[in-house]
Amino acid sequence: METIEQSGQEQQVTEVTNPVLSLAVPFYNEEEAIEHFFDVVLPILDGLSVSSEIVCVNDGSHDKTWKMLCQKADIDKRVRAIDLSRNFGKEAALTAALDHCRGAAVIPIDADLQDPPELIPEMVEKWKEGYEVVLAKRKSRDTDTFSKKHTSKGFFHILNLMADIEIPANVGDFRLIDRKVLEAMGQLNEQNRFMKGLFAWVGYKTITLEFDRRPRAAGITKWRKWKLWNHALDGIFAFSLMPLKIWIFFGGIVSAFSFLYGSYLILRTLVFGRDIPGYASMMVVMLFLGGIQLIGLGVLGEYLGRVYKEVKKRPLYLVRKKK
Ligand code: UDP
Ligand code: MG
Repeated sequence: METIEQSGQEQQVTEVTNPVLSLAVPFYNEEEAIEHFFDVVLPILDGLSVSSEIVCVNDGSHDKTWKMLCQKADIDKRVRAIDLSRNFGKEAALTAALDHCRGAAVIPIDADLQDPPELIPEMVEKWKEGYEVVLAKRKSRDTDTFSKKHTSKGFFHILNLMADIEIPANVGDFRLIDRKVLEAMGQLNEQNRFMKGLFAWVGYKTITLEFDRRPRAAGITKWRKWKLWNHALDGIFAFSLMPLKIWIFFGGIVSAFSFLYGSYLILRTLVFGRDIPGYASMMVVMLFLGGIQLIGLGVLGEYLGRVYKEVKKRPLYLVRKKK
């Protein structure tokens, strides 16, 4: 009995002092992966020379995820569980986790262990050497399906062509960041949390480690195709004004052609007299311009919608309970 009390006191002490390292983990319907996650990660944290905590955010799961996280938090004081009021999406859940981290260094990591936690000790070493960001980069995308691999490659190519900053490809949220970097991230008040982009935007002294991404340990991916598509658009619209600006060029080119064609029509009328036919060319020009204008309007609408979302300044997530 006494020993239990003693260890309870010890745990209390470790709870009060801030840990050096925090892991930030979002969980969404991960009941199948939770046990395995802790089985793998806790021994790795035990082996570190620094104290640590795991901040687990339950992103409105419909399964036993929250119950299991609570159980874990009761047994192990390094585990903290935070329950969001509903599913806010991975980026918001991760933001919630990061906001609750107390460590001097923070590592966001997925619950499915696709990012190898074995890399953590090396990341911590690099951080101790003075790096403020230790990036983990995937060597290849062999574990992804053919289509995901290629759309991802294409996406990053386009994104980097358009974006004002370089957003590294094959890099997820798995990285070590210093508290300085985390605080810098906190100053970015935008609602649209395209994390990879935000991480890239803040900069700081960075080193890259390479690793092989594995298939999911358990469960299935929570990304549906259209969600990935929206995520890609988020990245582009948040980090580039190109889609908005491109209409100036389109407009310029179309106007130039219209001017040439108009001059030709006037000249032709002057030389050959009035000419009734011309229905086809008129329709083509009208339809073409109509289409172009609608696309332009759509892009304007996209940005307007995003501005609208930003000015409302709704909280990124709501916490229902903390444990
Ligand atoms: N996730 C989340 N909220 C969501 C979707 C996913 O918190 O709405 C979490 C999920 O539990 C996992 C991480 O985000 O820990 C990555 O999700 P997933 O493995 O499904 O994505 P992928 O690895 O396929 O990109
Ligand atoms: Mg995954």
